[in-house]
Amino acid sequence: MREHAQRLQGLGTTIFAEMSALAVRTGSVNLGQGFPDTDGPDSLLEDAVAAIRGGANQYPPGRGIPALRQAIVDHQKRFYDLSYDPDTQVLVTTGATEAIAASLLAYVEPGDEVIALEPYYDSYAACIAMAGGRRVPVTLRAPDFRLDLDELRAAVTPRTKVLLINSPHNPTGTVLDDTELRGIAAIAVEHDLVVITDEVYEHLIFDGLQHLPLTAYEGMAERTVSIGSAGKTFSVTGWKIGWITGSPSVVTAVNTAKQFLTYVSGAPFQPAVAGALALGNDYFGTLRSTMQAKRDFLCDGLQSLGFGVHRPQGTYFVTTDIRPLGHTDGIDFCRMLPERTGVVAIPTQVFYDNTEAGRPLVRWAFCKKPEVLEEALTRLTKL
Ligand code: PMP
Ligand code: GLN
Repeated sequence: MREHAQRLQGLGTTIFAEMSALAVRTGSVNLGQGFPDTDGPDSLLEDAVAAIRGGANQYPPGRGIPALRQAIVDHQKRFYDLSYDPDTQVLVTTGATEAIAASLLAYVEPGDEVIALEPYYDSYAACIAMAGGRRVPVTLRAPDFRLDLDELRAAVTPRTKVLLINSPHNPTGTVLDDTELRGIAAIAVEHDLVVITDEVYEHLIFDGLQHLPLTAYEGMAERTVSIGSAGKTFSVTGWKIGWITGSPSVVTAVNTAKQFLTYVSGAPFQPAVAGALALGNDYFGTLRSTMQAKRDFLCDGLQSLGFGVHRPQGTYFVTTDIRPLGHTDGIDFCRMLPERTGVVAIPTQVFYDNTEAGRPLVRWAFCKKPEVLEEALTRLTKL
């Protein structure tokens, strides 16, 4: 057989698949790949079952069923006071993963530069490469993982086409603040850049902080692709229902790519997600407060075991520094951990180009039942 195309060079197997397989093989508690171990709300699950029984099993409309597009519009209005037309400004996708891929394919020409915050979610690097683009990282550095706007400005060149932003940020947990978002918007407007903003953890923000959508800043509405995901907001990561919102021309551009990737997305899940987006504030409040309690439980536990803990402002991941425990390399540490303790975590280094910045960092997912987190902490005492 011939070798695969050059643009797949170096992509290998995703770290999440590798580490989840390792967890199964070693019988470990899996705090690596981020997926909840409890399902979303009962009404959501029942609505999907009813939709299957009711015959919603053939291709739905390409942009998403009208009820879901309307529910996404209502959600953006309710939480952010943003207004969209459901027919021209919303596109339902096969998870945020497809939204990211289709957005990059829609805007990146071979040789274009795409600036991404590193550490970056791994599909960003792969999709930039598959679109023929060149990744230009701007590093969020420990201990605070804040965005340095001067570094972002310095990364822009005449070849820059897209800023790929993620807030709340996986894996660091940084929630970009008003100053950072204002700065990003000013740079995007000055250089006429497309901005793809991955906001899938919009409802997983702690300590009373608010999610600020980047598209709301001046000059951004016409250049921004905003991405959300039912997988994160309703704890159904296997359903793969995501969406984008943006100007009519942005949505048409992304849909041009989406049509030929998957054509349409999960028919019976769409009416169920539409119903869930209209759930009361108590649902969204409980999601946050329950996850914040899990964050605190795992962070306190890891801290008392001696890790350097970077407590996240959002997402369901915590980043730790392993140097206080006498380790220096996260990849070595995460390969040793399952055999030695029966716990799996993710080496953050694989999300960096600047591997030195990520070498001593390890990511843990806390979207797990309290007893699972407790078991993981007990096992980690073997360190
Ligand atoms: N973006 C980020 C930052 C994520 O962490 C994830 C989680 N997998 C995704 C996108 C993909 O979301 P989905 O499962 O909806 O494809
Ligand atoms: N987003 C999840 C994480 O960061 C995993 C998604 C995936 O496996 N592609 O762990």
